[in-house]
Amino acid sequence: KLEEDANGVDSASSRISFQNESKWDDHSSYGAKKTQQAWCRLSNGNWALGKVLSTSGSESVLSTSEGRVLKVSTESLLPANPEILNGVDDLMQLSYLHEPSVLYNLQYRYDQDIIYTKAGPVLVAINPFKKVRLYGNDFIEGYKRQKMDKPHVYAIADAAIREMKRDEVNQSIIISGESGAGKTETAKIAMQYLASLGGGSGIEYEILQTNPILEAFGNAKTARNNNSSRFGKLIEIHFGATGRISGAAIQTFLLEKSRVVQCADGERSYHIFYQLCAGAPRSLREKLNLRKAEFYKYLNQSSCRSIAGVDDSEMFLAVMEAMNVVHISKEDQDTVFAMLAAVLWLGNISFKVIDNENHITVVSDEGAQTVAKLLGCTFDSLNMALSTRKMTVRNEKIVQKLALEQAMDTRDALAKSIYASLFEWIVEQINMSLGAGKRRTGRSISILDIYGFESFTRNSFEQFCINYANERLQQHFNRHLFKLEQEEYIEDGIDWAKVDFEDNQDCLNLFEKKPLGLLSLLDEESTFPNATDLTFATKLKQHLDSNPCFKGERGKAFTVSHYAGEVMYNTTGFLEKNRDLLHVDLIQLLASCTCNLPQIFAAKMLVQSDDYPSGPARLSGADSQKLSVATKFKGQLFQLMQRLESTTPHFIRCIKPNSLQQPGIYGQELVLSQLKCCGVLEVVRISRSGYPTRMTHQKFARRYGFLLLESVASQDPLSVSVAILQQFNILPDMYQVGYTKLFFRTGQIGLLEDTRNRT
Ligand code: ATP
Ligand code: MG
Repeated sequence: KLEEDANGVDSASSRISFQNESKWDDHSSYGAKKTQQAWCRLSNGNWALGKVLSTSGSESVLSTSEGRVLKVSTESLLPANPEILNGVDDLMQLSYLHEPSVLYNLQYRYDQDIIYTKAGPVLVAINPFKKVRLYGNDFIEGYKRQKMDKPHVYAIADAAIREMKRDEVNQSIIISGESGAGKTETAKIAMQYLASLGGGSGIEYEILQTNPILEAFGNAKTARNNNSSRFGKLIEIHFGATGRISGAAIQTFLLEKSRVVQCADGERSYHIFYQLCAGAPRSLREKLNLRKAEFYKYLNQSSCRSIAGVDDSEMFLAVMEAMNVVHISKEDQDTVFAMLAAVLWLGNISFKVIDNENHITVVSDEGAQTVAKLLGCTFDSLNMALSTRKMTVRNEKIVQKLALEQAMDTRDALAKSIYASLFEWIVEQINMSLGAGKRRTGRSISILDIYGFESFTRNSFEQFCINYANERLQQHFNRHLFKLEQEEYIEDGIDWAKVDFEDNQDCLNLFEKKPLGLLSLLDEESTFPNATDLTFATKLKQHLDSNPCFKGERGKAFTVSHYAGEVMYNTTGFLEKNRDLLHVDLIQLLASCTCNLPQIFAAKMLVQSDDYPSGPARLSGADSQKLSVATKFKGQLFQLMQRLESTTPHFIRCIKPNSLQQPGIYGQELVLSQLKCCGVLEVVRISRSGYPTRMTHQKFARRYGFLLLESVASQDPLSVSVAILQQFNILPDMYQVGYTKLFFRTGQIGLLEDTRNRT
């Protein structure tokens, strides 16, 4: 997600085919019967529901609901669920659980603006791309008083609160999904519910007001989402002993820095730049020498500078107001805006060649002069930092003159690091205001809004990191799910035959193993000054070719078998992005500025490099030593997983029904690929391999008791249930009798339902 491929069409849907289809088509007991409803796959890949008109041997004739008559192979038909199961709240209630029934159930609900559905322990949320009437105080109250019980983000947030109090265990709400699926909106909806618990002294309002700030500085319009988060976020909301909110802490992950200096056509840089240019009041404009957005190189390389339906200048006022709420002083706000303006003006700095070796000097024009003024340094020191580099060669200090390309890269590196530091600084200020540093005695609920699995036509370092994070989260998800299943079986005293579930440990090992894993090898190669992306790719092939999750490709590419499908990565840029070096000259420049923020940024950069004096991440040969990006990310991820391990997780999977950001369009293929990537189909599959249909003895006896041909001596629900099972010859393998419930293998209830409907 971090860096969009300029021509990267979203091919996630087409690349990830539906794997393990055989596991799904296991409906061997199903013989297509006349007049029965069944699903068949059309040539365009979509599923159609139809009535079986006739079956002769291997062929069946089907009339679809759209009035078409199709001849299909009987084998390919999948049984449809009885109509009473149309649009059930929980996919697990479906008697036949397979690809078309899951897709149809979600669509059936989506068409009625019911965007939330449960898949066992997971909440599936399908982006409506329009206002739906599901939110606000009436709904919040409804869920609080437990008058409402339909699947909803509020229900998840409510469960988290209840379980936190009941079990005295911290909770987490883990939201995932691809770009534009609705993660950030969902996180805000959950925050809204938690905030309704109140906290006093306006802390809950403060927490909500962090959203406009973080979105302004960390979100941008991309090809996939007009408000795409370009960072991952964990917000931990703390509760005091009385159950009210006492504070919060925010952690962010991997901000996409490259967007500051370049973005693809049709996309934008971070919202805040346009908001500043459009909304700054006159005095601020003059102070910062601000122009319109199109004047700045960093913003005008893309033809897109506005977003339909969004007023940037209005947003700017909202951001300023939100900054007041989180106690960022007016003075600090002005410095923040000065840094933003400095970044914009940096992009307009130009160079002139001064000799025949392509060496350059900075042109002393309005751009460079304004940058110097905003940062609080002299033109000369800025010029020095951008046009030369101090180096130590054989113990001798020398000053190297930079060529044009190098100088432009240096300028861009400075802009990126100022912006990234500014982002971090703002998060710190917010955390101070929310009391993040205070010692906590109470409990917390964390909300994680993090990028989902990505697979594009061209995948780079950013996808590599994101998909690695998703492997970790997937493992967490699997373990939790598996544990839940097991608990329910044990609780009801039924024979727990081990349900096999997919483990992604092999893939995680491929990334993490030392010294021969993807991350170690990447770090090692990053320390060699002469290494290239090609030598890196070759090294991977040399050491990892025997790993079943790895496949070397031609040239600079390699493929990883992720839980959600295979992804081919191109190593171009891997080493440089992983090193992410800022030359000491630039750090020194920032340290010498009279403006306080650049000084703070520089101090932090120096501390960061001193913090880790040794270890594999130390990039020798470079003049600024610090942790590699991948290693830092891995550390953050481990810390995150550790935190999540100690919480009770609640999972929300967001689904994007179309790539047009339009309401009312449900693309089966697109939805299907996401259900697969975010593990929803895996949940369903795990349950299928066990006993997915559960019904209490009472309900079962009540529902099917009247079908009994002979009366039963004892009328207790259990005896009646057993008599029904016997009369219908349900094989012992197909069910288990628990203390309170009957557990059925897939499809068994469908048989009874059919009989019941015919009677
Ligand atoms: P990214 O990974 O790019 O940050 P995301 O998953 O966070 O994407 P959002 O920004 O939350 O996606 O959602 C994209 C857009 O979809 C929103 O700006 C909004 O227009 C719409 N949307 C999402 N959820 C809802 C909802 N519950 N109700 C109405 N509109 C929604
Ligand atoms: Mg988002």
